[in-house]
Amino acid sequence: METTKPAISSTLDAAVQFVKGIGPRRAEMLAAHGIRSVRDLVEYLPFRYEDRTRFRPIRSLKDGEWVLVRGEVCGVGDFSSRRRDFSILELLVRDADGTIRVKFFNQPYLRRLYHVGVKLIAYGQVKRDQYAKGALVLVNPECEILEEDESDASLHSGRIVPIYRRLGDLRTRTLRRIIHSLVSSLPAEIPDAVPAALCRQLRLMSRSSALRQIHFPETRGSSRELDLLNQGISPAHKRLIFEELFQLQVGIGMVRRNRVRVEKDRRFQLGENVRTAIKRILPFHPTEAQKRVLRDIAEDICSPHPMSRLLQGDVGSGKTIVAAQAAVIAVENGSQVAIMAPTEILAEQHYFYFRRLLAPVGYRIDLLKGSLPAKGKRQVQQRIAEGETRIAIGTHALVQEDVAFRNLSLVIIDEQHRFGVVQRSILREKGNHPDMLVMTATPIPRSLALTLYGDLDVSVIDELPPGRTPVETVWYQDRERRRVYDAIRQTVRAGHQVYVVYPLVEESEKSDLRAATEMAALMQNEVFPEMRVGLLHGRMKSAEKEETMASFAAGAIQVLISTTVIEVGVDVANATLMVIEHAERFGLAQLHQLRGRVGRSSARSKCILVADVGNNPEARRRIGIMCETNDGFQIAEVDLELRGPGEMIGTRQSGIPAFKYANIVRDRKALEVARVEAERFLEKLRARPDEDARRIALHIREQWKNHFGLAMTG
Ligand code: ADP
Ligand code: MG
Repeated sequence: METTKPAISSTLDAAVQFVKGIGPRRAEMLAAHGIRSVRDLVEYLPFRYEDRTRFRPIRSLKDGEWVLVRGEVCGVGDFSSRRRDFSILELLVRDADGTIRVKFFNQPYLRRLYHVGVKLIAYGQVKRDQYAKGALVLVNPECEILEEDESDASLHSGRIVPIYRRLGDLRTRTLRRIIHSLVSSLPAEIPDAVPAALCRQLRLMSRSSALRQIHFPETRGSSRELDLLNQGISPAHKRLIFEELFQLQVGIGMVRRNRVRVEKDRRFQLGENVRTAIKRILPFHPTEAQKRVLRDIAEDICSPHPMSRLLQGDVGSGKTIVAAQAAVIAVENGSQVAIMAPTEILAEQHYFYFRRLLAPVGYRIDLLKGSLPAKGKRQVQQRIAEGETRIAIGTHALVQEDVAFRNLSLVIIDEQHRFGVVQRSILREKGNHPDMLVMTATPIPRSLALTLYGDLDVSVIDELPPGRTPVETVWYQDRERRRVYDAIRQTVRAGHQVYVVYPLVEESEKSDLRAATEMAALMQNEVFPEMRVGLLHGRMKSAEKEETMASFAAGAIQVLISTTVIEVGVDVANATLMVIEHAERFGLAQLHQLRGRVGRSSARSKCILVADVGNNPEARRRIGIMCETNDGFQIAEVDLELRGPGEMIGTRQSGIPAFKYANIVRDRKALEVARVEAERFLEKLRARPDEDARRIALHIREQWKNHFGLAMTG
C-alpha cells in the first residue's frame, strides 16, 4: 500500500502568511476575506481575463464599445470641487496615432499614481463626454500601470492575462505575481479529489494543471477561448466544476447511506386501528398516485430504518391528505408528530387545515408560534412535553429550539426550499431518529432537486385529483380595474366565489395591510354593496381567521379579500376566480401557489393578474409565463432561470456551501454526470475500495465535517 502518499490537503494547506510577498499584516487582511491557506489563495479566481495580445488602436474606438487600450499619459488635469468629497482626475492618453480622455471620479488617491509619461493599460466602455463637446472618454476604467523595467513583463502582457478583484492593498498586478509564483511551483501531481480513472474517462485535465491554467491559460489566443474563460467554462474551469460537483454528490450520497445504518427503537404497524382511522379521515377517494405514495410512506414508517422521504407534487395535487394519513399512522402507533412550515402564517394555515381534516379522529393538535403570549406558549410546550399534544404544528423553531417532545416519531416539513441537506441531517440525529417527510410545495427543476434533496428518497404525485380544469390566466393593467370588477360580479352572479389577494410578505408590513383593509371597505361599500365581502389577514386573531375562512367555505362570504395568508391549505372548490393585486410583486412560486386555490372543480376557473410591470423585464416575464402555462415544472424552470440558483439555494437555506466554480443551472449536465459517478464511486468504496478511493472518501468526509460539523461514517 502506498501509505506515504500525502493527504489531498497537505500540499496546499500551508498558511498564507509564509507566501513570498505576504507577511503577517497582509495575512490578517486576507483572513478577513476568508483567505487563510495557499489553497484559498490559489482558488481566488480571476473575475475576468484580458487578451493582451491585441489592443485596440485608440483612433478606431467608437462610442459604446468595451475596449482594451494601451497607451501613455500625455496630460493630467486635476479638478477638485470645493465640495470636499468631489474630485475628477482627467488623463489624456495616447498611443501611436490617437488620443483619448480617461476620467476618474472621486478617487483622489489616484493622483499620485498618474503623471505624464506613465504607461498604462485601460479596460472600459467608450462614451461621449458631454462636458467636452462629445469627445470620446473612458470613465472609471479598470487600469493597470506598466512598470518601467520589468523582469516579469511577460506575465502581464502579450498573453491572456487574469484580472483579479483587489484584496486590501493587493491589486491585480501584485496578486498576479503572487499567484503566478504559487501555481508555477505546484507539483505536477497533486492529490486529487476525483479518482484518476474517472479523470481519464472524462478527459479532465489534472488538478494542478487546471489550477495553473485557470490563472494563466495556455491558449492559442482565439476569441472563443477568451469567451469561455470569461464565462467560467474553459476546460480548466470545467475540470474544477466537475470536482466540486463530484465532491458534493459524494457527500450527499454519504449522508443518504449514513441514515440507513441507523435502527429505530420502535416498531410501528399498519394494524386494523390504523387502517380504520386512515379511512375515517378521507373526505374523498384518493387518486392512484396518492395511494402509491402512501404505500411508500407507510412502508418506511414501519421499517426498521428512519424514513427520509421527499413528497413531490404540483400545487393542488393533494399532498396534504397523504401527510395527514402518515400522521395518523404515527399517532395510532402511540407517538407524536411535528409539522413544520417555513413561516408562522403558513404554520397557522396548516393548523386550521389539519384540524379540519383530522376532526373525525379527534387528536389533540396544537399550534406553537412565536407570537403566542408567554403563558399560552408554556401551556402548549407543556402539553407537547407530556405527550398530550399528538400533533404539534409550528415553524422550524418547533424542532430546532428546545421544545421537548415526549415521543416524537414523525416530522413533516413543508419545505419551500428553506431547509437543507445539513439541517435535515442534524434533525435526523435528534432524539429517537424521527421519520421525516419533506413536502415540496413547488415543483423544482430536476437539477436542483438532485442537489437540494439528494439525501432523500423520492415519491411523486404525478396525477391531479379528478375534475381539475386548467385555470385561464389573464393580465390586466391597473387602469383596467373596471374589467376586474366585471369579472368579480359575473362570477358571483353565477353562484361562485372570488379571492382577491394583496401582497403581504411578512406580518409586519403594515402598509400592505392597510391596502387590503381599505380595499375591502371600498369593495363592500362602493363597488359591491349587494355582495358579502370578507377580509382575512395575518394580524387577525386565530379564532377570527378561522371564522372568516369557515364562512367563506360555507359560501356565506362571496368575495374574500386577503393578504397572502391564503397561500396554502385554503380549499374552497366553489371559488373560481382568483384576482391577484400587484402581481408584479409576487415571485413565481407564490403566484403559482395562489392560482392553485382555484380550478378545483369542473367549473371553469380564471385568474386575473393585476400588474404594473413598468420597465421591469423580469416581472413581465413572470406574468407572461403565468398566462402561458399551468404546468408547475415549466414555471419552476423559468423561476430558476430568472432568480438564478443563488437565490434558490443560498448557503443558509440549502445547507450546501456556496459554489466556487459551478453554477448548477448552467452546469446541469455536469451535475448529472457527477451524481451518477458519485454513486458508482460510493458503490466501489463499499465493495472493493482501493487506496485512492479511501483517501478521497476521507477527504470529503473531512470537508463536510469542517463545513457543517456533520460526522459521516459512510
Ligand atoms: P397540495 O398538494 O398543493 O398541498 P392539497 O393537499 O391542498 O394540495 O390538495 C388540493 C385540493 O385537492 C384539496 O382541496 C384537497 O381536498 C383536494 N384533493 C386532494 N386529493 C383529492 C382526491 N383524491 N380527490 C378529490 N379531491 C382531492
Ligand atoms: Mg399544500
